[in-house]
Amino acid sequence: MKQIIVVGSTGSIGRQTLDILRSHPDEFKLVALSCHNNLALLREQIAEFIPRAAALSDGSRPPPGDLPIAVESGTDGLCRMIRETEADMVVNAAAGAAGLLPSLAALESGKDLALANKETMVMAGRLVRETAARHQRRIIPVDSEHSAVFHLTRLMEPEAIAEIVLTASGGPFRARALEELQHVTVEETLRHPTWNMGRKITVDCATMANKALEVIEAGRLFDMPTDRIRVVIHPQSLVHSLVRTRDGSLYAQISRPDMRLPIVNALSYPACPAEDFAALDLAGHSFEFQSVEKRRYPLLGLGYHALRRDGAYPTVFNAANEVAVDAFLSGGIGFTAIARVVEQTLAADWPNLNRTLDDVIFNDTSARAKAAEYC
Ligand code: MG
Repeated sequence: MKQIIVVGSTGSIGRQTLDILRSHPDEFKLVALSCHNNLALLREQIAEFIPRAAALSDGSRPPPGDLPIAVESGTDGLCRMIRETEADMVVNAAAGAAGLLPSLAALESGKDLALANKETMVMAGRLVRETAARHQRRIIPVDSEHSAVFHLTRLMEPEAIAEIVLTASGGPFRARALEELQHVTVEETLRHPTWNMGRKITVDCATMANKALEVIEAGRLFDMPTDRIRVVIHPQSLVHSLVRTRDGSLYAQISRPDMRLPIVNALSYPACPAEDFAALDLAGHSFEFQSVEKRRYPLLGLGYHALRRDGAYPTVFNAANEVAVDAFLSGGIGFTAIARVVEQTLAADWPNLNRTLDDVIFNDTSARAKAAEYC
């Protein structure tokens, strides 16, 4: 029986993880969980799964006697819960930069990390890889593209791999006239054609900042240089990513767009789950691929730029984008201003150092302050 901790249990990935745990009670046991502040849903999840510990990462506390178990509070409390609860694996489905410290706490306390929080690798990929190596723990990606690449490359010799090809849906504005983009509303932006996700990531899909973060994440997870990571638009979201080998062949992972597949693959790793809910009948489906229009998605180019510059730049890219998306969602700036804010923030002179947690936090904090000035 694998003992599992779920960070971000009330979000989209967290709830789908609990779906899997619910349907496999003989294989997995939920031993602890956390959310940001959705106490009502957390209360239901605790009543159902009866974990040993829980945490509210926003720092709030439930009323005394409200919950049958002790509840930790704040990021420190969440990390203490991760360290002190005996478990085999932490599923990190936290949103944004807040996911970094829980990832480190998981690895440092000897747990494998099933990683749905891409900011962990974007902000501190090297530090996180070093921490995993030092504690001999595994990082198993849950993001659908990286899960596809991870499982495809398990079957290959590393020297046979020429490049990684990440697929992108292109979001809701793939066919919108370019001059109209500055006027699109928050509501239209939140209508994603194929995946149903949280607000921040849905905006990131429309701008392709999400794919930029995934390019950086792929570079860090798979030790791939920038020029060997490509992105192609694939509106159907059925091919989740591809690997090109040196003989020119392309190997693809194909399934229905259902996040439970990468989740169950990560939970079961290294075993192959017998679950086939993502099986796709190929008959009747067509697969389209298109190159990415650079002018439509300037944030993708900025993400490549950040990965190439290395040092603080990937951290700065992520921080500036988080600030800009918040400003867009609260009506402070328009859609096309998100890329402008990120570009202006990246244009400042950022340090080469991003080795330690202190470096990462300093770069993240400085970039947020800078980006706020441009909003
Ligand atoms: Mg993805």
